[in-house]
Amino acid sequence: MAFKVPRGTQDILPEQTPKWQKVESVLRELSRVYRYKEIRTPIFEQTELFQRGVGDTTDIVQKEMYTFEDRGGRSLTLRPEGTAAAVRAYVEHKMFGYPDQPVKLSYMGPMFRYERQQAGRYRQFVQYGVEAIGSADPAIDAEVISLAMDIYQTVGLKDLKLVINSLGDKETRDAHRTALIKHFEPSIGEFCSDCQNRLEKNPLRILDCKKDHEHPLMKTAPALTDYLTESSAEYFSQVKNYLDVLGIQYEVDPNLVRGLDYYNHTAFEIMSTAKGFGAITTLCGGGRYNGLVEDIGGPDVPGIGFALSIERLLLALEAEGVELEVEDALDIYVVAMGEEAKLKSAELISSFRTKGIAADMDYVDRKMKAQMKSADRLGAKFVIVIGESELEENAVNVKEMETGNQEKVEFHNLVNYLLEHK
Ligand code: ATP
Ligand code: MG
Repeated sequence: MAFKVPRGTQDILPEQTPKWQKVESVLRELSRVYRYKEIRTPIFEQTELFQRGVGDTTDIVQKEMYTFEDRGGRSLTLRPEGTAAAVRAYVEHKMFGYPDQPVKLSYMGPMFRYERQQAGRYRQFVQYGVEAIGSADPAIDAEVISLAMDIYQTVGLKDLKLVINSLGDKETRDAHRTALIKHFEPSIGEFCSDCQNRLEKNPLRILDCKKDHEHPLMKTAPALTDYLTESSAEYFSQVKNYLDVLGIQYEVDPNLVRGLDYYNHTAFEIMSTAKGFGAITTLCGGGRYNGLVEDIGGPDVPGIGFALSIERLLLALEAEGVELEVEDALDIYVVAMGEEAKLKSAELISSFRTKGIAADMDYVDRKMKAQMKSADRLGAKFVIVIGESELEENAVNVKEMETGNQEKVEFHNLVNYLLEHK
């Protein structure tokens, strides 16, 4: 029997991990400069947390969760997203009492959703996300958006589009909701069963439907922006002012609604406009979620965040033909001829490694020519060949592979030589 990775998951092979690590290091570095401290929460949580925190009417909760009962009869769910857990931890550890507010968190790790597999859509994928909890200042909305844009620009993407919208406050949503029901109700029979359910429960989500997005009533649907209260409109215009000051270009799309129930005010997505990018172009989504902290049992504290997946970021890099500069250098390969030379090689590479010099040698008894080939394939910067005469002289020719230049160096000087030249 041949085993395979479960559908919707993937192995990230040794030749691919340097790219992942590079992206992860960009994410960590930008978290540091923007001051979003990492939080690590469990991979699974009580199922109810997601029902409450993500929303009962969402695709995630209705169709996509990996839910199981543990041996103690508890219903647990593999986390489908990061916000609910971050907010759960924020409430549980009373971070609202921290002297410095807002609390700025970041996370990175696998998420699980039972989805139909396609390019850019996996059942296990890695999300990076941030949450800024405890501020309702439009400046922080702009900060969160600018961090997301900075990530994509830092890895070298150019074909990007930032789309923003305001979902307004409760009053806005109620007025808009009434208008939506009025708009869709007479023809709701022409829509999918999900949309029919959404009509009463959460008609806003009809606009987000993937099946019915071509229906003519979608284009003529009442736009949220027409229902913004004065204070919501003012908030939105301040967010835009800050984005302008930061030199961040955006489009306002009045039909942008995010999949999760808890969003209000600012909502945004970043898409790839690269030719050849698959059907799913959204790289990152986020927004404000005032009210969520309270729903999860904390005080009435506002919050905003976003999430992106590394998988889609890598797809965008591929679509744009951007090569990441990855660090995977082999500084030196030691070729050994004979048993005694092998002993010496082992001793030498150990001394190299303690000084941070990446070093390797042959472990499958290959002939010299094959070892040289290996060194070449592995991209070794330097090669040394140790045989009888080198052992006698206590010195070896260090060959720089790229130039072919050679220099004789005594064994005890090798570490210094390599540190100087690598
Ligand atoms: P979509 O509309 O593509 O289903 P979503 O609204 O479900 O996205 P979010 O829950 O907002 O997505 O997640 C934020 C980001 O996480 C997405 O923009 C995308 O980059 C990534 N993402 C979501 N689901 C997947 C998945 N199944 N595989 C890979 N990446 C994903
Ligand atoms: Mg989805």
